[in-house]
Amino acid sequence: KQAVAVVGAGIAGIAAAVRLAAQGHAVTVFEGRSSFGGKMHQFELPGGYRFDAGPSLFTLPGLVDELFRHAQRDPRDYFRYERLDPITQYFFADGTRLTAWADEEKFAREVEHKLGVPAAEVTRFLHGSRRAYEATAPTFLHKSLHRPQSYWSRDTLRAVAEMPRLGLLSTMHARHRQAFPQDARLVQLFDRFATYNGSDPYQAPATLSLIPHLEHGLGAYYPEGGIYSIASSLVRLAEELGVEFRYNEPVEQILTAGGRVTGLRTPQDVYDFGLVVSNMDVVPTYRRLLPQQPAPERTLAQPRSSSALIFYWGIAREFPELGLHNIFFSQDYRREFEAIFREQTVADDVTVYVNITSKHTPADAPPGHENWFVMVNVPHDQGQDWPALQQRARAAVLRRLNQALGLDVAPLIRAERSWTPPGIAADTSSFGGALYGSSSNTMLAAFLRHPNFSRKLDGLYFCGGSVHPGGGIPLCLLSARIVADLIN
Ligand code: FAD
Repeated sequence: KQAVAVVGAGIAGIAAAVRLAAQGHAVTVFEGRSSFGGKMHQFELPGGYRFDAGPSLFTLPGLVDELFRHAQRDPRDYFRYERLDPITQYFFADGTRLTAWADEEKFAREVEHKLGVPAAEVTRFLHGSRRAYEATAPTFLHKSLHRPQSYWSRDTLRAVAEMPRLGLLSTMHARHRQAFPQDARLVQLFDRFATYNGSDPYQAPATLSLIPHLEHGLGAYYPEGGIYSIASSLVRLAEELGVEFRYNEPVEQILTAGGRVTGLRTPQDVYDFGLVVSNMDVVPTYRRLLPQQPAPERTLAQPRSSSALIFYWGIAREFPELGLHNIFFSQDYRREFEAIFREQTVADDVTVYVNITSKHTPADAPPGHENWFVMVNVPHDQGQDWPALQQRARAAVLRRLNQALGLDVAPLIRAERSWTPPGIAADTSSFGGALYGSSSNTMLAAFLRHPNFSRKLDGLYFCGGSVHPGGGIPLCLLSARIVADLIN
């Protein structure tokens, strides 16, 4: 039994704390802010609107259940969720609407009916997505890619054998165009899955076409009470297991001696720890907490994922045509991604994502009202004029929503707040406010993410969206599992 410090109470830090405490370690979590969750926090706006600030789409709920089981608990005593059906409402620029049903066959028939693409072609594509997921997940997601022993397994050989078929040399967009040459709208629909890890479908390798399988094959879920309940239920478990959470106590330095971690310094005190798990973004972990250590510059220089501009709106009306997840596509998707990834700006015509949790948790908005989380993908912060970009994006969002919904949305907004890339960076210490750490726009991205351990300092580990296997709730949970496995 050892004393372990976790730096940061983001979802990966919480998950790592649960695993390590369940394995008998004495775990202390240092969190710079007044509460847990990081990007996964919640807040309320005047008038009775509750919002999940960050993530809204939840897949692979089994990874959360696994944490409760790991601690010999029944997950259902802590955390409940439902499988979504339908998953998403799509609004295309030409006025076409399409419902993504959970059932693959039903979804394929909807595509045939609305877009004219034969259902069999949709089913064939989704089967390919499943094969790609099954071939790669055990190797690329479930274990450290940075330990030689990870490469000596049947799973790895199988993944390597599948490589040519997975289309590493082609892009996601090219793969989708090849699958659906007759309909640009369906290509746009599947291209959007690149944004699930903050990447660009026109650059990202075709391998990422495995992402649709997560949603269409394995399912999209909604946790009872909203996404925040993932973090809050796990914190409850962690506290029961004896984890100590120290809020408002930012770690200022990780102390080292002779190639080993020896402890931490915070504004309050100096602590001895032989094991430290950083859930802080890996870039500021090196820059701020380990200023004397040589940093892995090449790794830290990997291009960042996209960030987001989010408008949280209390809306004085109900929209029966909308669901939990709604996508309003732009006319020119390629232009949108060029703006984000090549020009570091925001296009004039943007794809708008609207998430409305009051559809499933009525208490999240007053009767007759809805809580709209309205998000646009934007580049990470590199010093752009965000107030100007935000104003432009807000106008573009309203134009798009007014057009699709056939009314003027602005007068319905009764409460408002926004989150920008610099705001996300300031509130969560994420480098540039990137949502998912480094992007997956190249074939090698998976290998170039920072490992879950330090190559230089014994006793130092890393979890969270900026390190292997990447960002998003499921991958953050996997990073915590890999760290716990490495420590043991
Ligand atoms: P973070 O959430 O980044 O938290 C890090 C924590 O560490 C923070 O609490 C911070 O205060 C603390 N900290 C930092 N430095 C210190 C220090 N020195 N000392 C003490 N504490 C420190 N994912 C999905 O799966 N689905 C989605 O739909 C989705 N949508 C998203 C939308 C938005 C707007 C955002 C912002 C993210 C979204 N994501 C989504 C990504 C997902 O939220 C993240 O990948 C995940 O929550 C990151 O968790 P993390 O453990 O890396 O830590």
